[in-house]
Amino acid sequence: MPRKFNVPPFYRSQLIATVKQARGVLDPRKKDFSPSLLDFETVKFKIARHFGFCFGVENAIEIAYRAIEENQGKRIFLLSEMIHNPQVNTDLQERGVKFLMRTDGSTIVPFDSLTKEDIVIVPAFGTTVEIQDALDKKGIDPYFYDTTCPFVEKVWKRSGELGKKGYSVIVHGKRTHEETRATFSHSKETSPTIIVLDKAEAEIICQFIRGEISAAQLGEHLGQGMSAEFDPEKHLQKVGVVNQTTMLATETREIADMIRKAMVEVHGESNISKHFADTRDTLCYATSENQRATMNLIESGADIAIVVGGYNSSNTSHLFELCEETIPTYYVKNELEIESVKTIRHFLPAKKQVVESGNWLPDKRPITVALTSGASCPDRTVDLVMLRVATLLGSSLDPEKVLKDFSKKLSESPAAILEAGLG
Ligand code: SF4
Repeated sequence: MPRKFNVPPFYRSQLIATVKQARGVLDPRKKDFSPSLLDFETVKFKIARHFGFCFGVENAIEIAYRAIEENQGKRIFLLSEMIHNPQVNTDLQERGVKFLMRTDGSTIVPFDSLTKEDIVIVPAFGTTVEIQDALDKKGIDPYFYDTTCPFVEKVWKRSGELGKKGYSVIVHGKRTHEETRATFSHSKETSPTIIVLDKAEAEIICQFIRGEISAAQLGEHLGQGMSAEFDPEKHLQKVGVVNQTTMLATETREIADMIRKAMVEVHGESNISKHFADTRDTLCYATSENQRATMNLIESGADIAIVVGGYNSSNTSHLFELCEETIPTYYVKNELEIESVKTIRHFLPAKKQVVESGNWLPDKRPITVALTSGASCPDRTVDLVMLRVATLLGSSLDPEKVLKDFSKKLSESPAAILEAGLG
């Protein structure tokens, strides 16, 4: 039985929750990754089998709201954004929570101004050993309201195990992302550690392993992501690959395969276990399932795709990348970005820019929209995006009635939901 978290009701949805519950009843072990279909007559929504708040995000939200409830009158800080979702962060700020740092690690409130009476919440990405120590010195327990996701901690633990066995750690992640900074910091406590962003950077490591470039050339490209004592000659003899949990799972596997292949070329297949550790078990379940469900969603076909999530959310941007390869895709943070049938504001991760596009909806009716969202996006926001599009396209179904019908049918019998056209 999956753990249920105490998440404020305003993040919960009726429409999406109903779809998820109906699919969960039919397929509790999640063997079927095909999307669900919601038919609004003028627009059909194909909804990914898996998306939205994951275990780590719900855990973080439960702890943060509990911290607020238990500490009325005290100063409450978050180290930085708790998760990469604007609604959640804004709501916490409106309840008086202040951020100590920006997402890039720069200071908003100096640590020197903290006292032992203050409450500091550690975000779901975790934090660095250095910041844990700084809080400790201030008399603030960094583990009391620690929302670090257990799947992120699992990566730290795996890095520690690798270090004890004499392996170095290659982290597949974005050097500036909070989670990668935290994983790097914990990993380097026990293992020489190096960060690679993508396959191009992994290829530089492979070239070094194969003896095609020097340590100095490697350092020119990847020096900024190396732990202080990292000596490529010594520390790229025996490695394991772990990832920032929000990266593309397929890319992490490809990077691990590239490094393994280079090691086999140099040391031979029979010696590979002495030079390369199998670390496939560090991939987070939510990232894997969201990406797998998105690929099934794309394969099922649609006229356009909408991906909902915060614009600084790494896992959402990867869902966008998967969709945009085959379908015109719009990445929106909420329904307010959808101006009209003619105009939409949407985010382009490659340019890090919000742009406005015209004529974004095809003229034909009905149209089919593939819909998914990131692991930090409330289902309520996805509901509102869906209803906004249905309303703009003149759906004759009253959205309130649709919601009421779904809720009513769900309370009567989950199976009836499927008879009503879902699934
Ligand atoms: S995406 Fe995975 S690692 Fe990140 S918070 Fe969710 S469950 Fe945890």
